[in-house]
Amino acid sequence: MEIKVLFDKLNLDERFLTGWGFSVLVDDCILFDTGEKPSLLLKNMESMGVDISSLTAVVISHDHWDHTGGLWEILSSKERLKVYGCPGFSAGFKNKVGGLKGELIESDKVTEIAKDIYATGEITGEYEGQYMPEQALVVRSDNGLSVITGCAHPGIVKILGKVRETFSTEDIYLVLGGFHLMGSDRRMINVIVDEFRKLGVKKAGPCHCSGDEAESIFRDKYKDDFVQVKAGEIIQI
Ligand SMILES: [Zn+2]
Ligand SMILES: [Zn+2]
Repeated sequence: MEIKVLFDKLNLDERFLTGWGFSVLVDDCILFDTGEKPSLLLKNMESMGVDISSLTAVVISHDHWDHTGGLWEILSSKERLKVYGCPGFSAGFKNKVGGLKGELIESDKVTEIAKDIYATGEITGEYEGQYMPEQALVVRSDNGLSVITGCAHPGIVKILGKVRETFSTEDIYLVLGGFHLMGSDRRMINVIVDEFRKLGVKKAGPCHCSGDEAESIFRDKYKDDFVQVKAGEIIQI
């Protein structure tokens, strides 16, 4: 199983465009988040040899522009594409998916998308005082579970708690994505790293909105098990 990083703030080389937002492709067919702009996502997909026709579903972590930016172009190019969202997403988002003939699937429960690939379903979160529901992706491989997050507005530890509760007997191999710790106190970040260790998380790949300080603390503590996320990178899990 592999994760192709389609969009982030860093890149492997100049073939891959960067910006604000996040997007990965799992098992060559499940798209998780779509970055800030269609042109950037489509260019990077082309550079990685990924065609829209190979997508079987799109999972949107949460209803923020830097995660939904490329979605509308994808839906315009492929009708009846399954879009996994949360019940608490805005009416505007839901109507737009429907208008482009996407097949919206909303759940607050863990939902199997394909063999060994699951959406966590809605987890309660908050952003700048507003309700901001979010879901993560869980992928099972021989190494254990990999959890991919968009911004982790509910809190990265809370998200991992839901994964732990549902998949109680399986090891968490990798946690990758936005951890939303920009501006967080170092002591808080250290507590979060300790929580990762308690949960048995083997590898960590904070990127996007995790913040420079959180990335550097995770890098120091995880050493060889720190995963550097860059657009264009293929991560084996
Ligand atoms: Zn974000
Ligand atoms: Zn966000």
